[in-house]
Amino acid sequence: MHPIKTFPPISSKLPHAGTTIFTVMSELANQHSAINLSQGFPDFNCSEKLISLVNKYMLMGKNQYAPMQGLLPLREKIAVKTNELYGATYNPADEITITAGGTQALYTAITAVVHKGDEVIVLEPAYDSYIPAIQLSGGIPVYVGLKPPLYKIDWEQVQRVITSNTKLIILNSPHNPTGTVFSKEDIFQLIKITENKNIFILSDEVYEHIIFDNHPHESVCKYPELRARSFVVFSFGKTYHTTGWKIGYCLAPKELTVEFRKVHQFITFCTNTPIQWALNDFIEEKNNYLCLHKFYEEKRDLFVKLINDSKFKFIPAKGTYFQLLSFDGLTDEKDTDFAMRITKDYGVASVPVSVFYHDKADYKMLRFCFAKEAVTLEKAAERIRGI
Ligand code: PMP
Ligand code: GLN
Repeated sequence: MHPIKTFPPISSKLPHAGTTIFTVMSELANQHSAINLSQGFPDFNCSEKLISLVNKYMLMGKNQYAPMQGLLPLREKIAVKTNELYGATYNPADEITITAGGTQALYTAITAVVHKGDEVIVLEPAYDSYIPAIQLSGGIPVYVGLKPPLYKIDWEQVQRVITSNTKLIILNSPHNPTGTVFSKEDIFQLIKITENKNIFILSDEVYEHIIFDNHPHESVCKYPELRARSFVVFSFGKTYHTTGWKIGYCLAPKELTVEFRKVHQFITFCTNTPIQWALNDFIEEKNNYLCLHKFYEEKRDLFVKLINDSKFKFIPAKGTYFQLLSFDGLTDEKDTDFAMRITKDYGVASVPVSVFYHDKADYKMLRFCFAKEAVTLEKAAERIRGI
């Protein structure tokens, strides 16, 4: 087959973007029948009850457009949940919007606030959707690097990169890919640094319920000074083991939500209707999210126990379902090459962390997803021990 030659030539708006690492590594894992601990998703199913609820609402005819902002009863329940967890009051009418996953919420918030030439502070390693979204709006990413082993935020450096053009700072806790979480001190620094400045915050909190060792989640929602300037993003995909459903939400004060919805209505207009109805019932069962940290803590503990006598070094993740493993001293290969080689030769796929840095800084670190059945983790760990 001869593909038709495109005319006129297209000039890329994202000249440096390739296919995401999640797609690359998942495809490589499939090709080599490797255990896929690369892309972050559970290998177990979500609740049967949740599936029957979606089914029920589909059969009941809830199959047409949902309201642009999201289903009101669901927004009301999110308001109650947010208040119970973080003591924050968000008005369901004009401060909560349901989106097609965290990704759409992030993209929408960035598009809503970033004008051409605006600077956006991004802490790296950074989840890969932030930078393209900034660039598509003509914004300029300004990077602050976090370094292993602790990946602590250097707030003095953040302070140093702030200019009169700084429009937004993007934060993520619990943090993908490092598994670190905000401390109270981080929050105080953030408050201090943004005080009296025209800087918005985009806080990616999609792993809010996956935080270990009895550490509380330091949501920016808890702090009125931060709440006033923040878009806060959540994902039902992470909480209910339904990453393929792409549904989440964004909390933001009224004036920010007005702008957020102006953009949202022209990206997707609205979000999947029967799933919103199903979640509106399912969200009532609080244990599903209140106990999630225990569920994943057991998986983290099992995984780190199983790989403890491997050649990799690590600090157990404090949150998310990702564990970083350092192969410093094991080989001089680039992390991208090493990740590919162990997928092919040892049958276990991971994500090389350098891809989350704009300059591909290689600290010899791989990210493994432990949102897997015990038997998957056991098999994967055996292979990791063989490396
Ligand atoms: N932010 C982070 C840090 C993530 O890891 C993910 C998961 N891919 C997202 C946002 C996107 O969430 P969703 O799958 O709901 O779009
Ligand atoms: N959030 C998931 C990860 O970090 C996957 C997201 C994606 O595939 N785009 O692996």
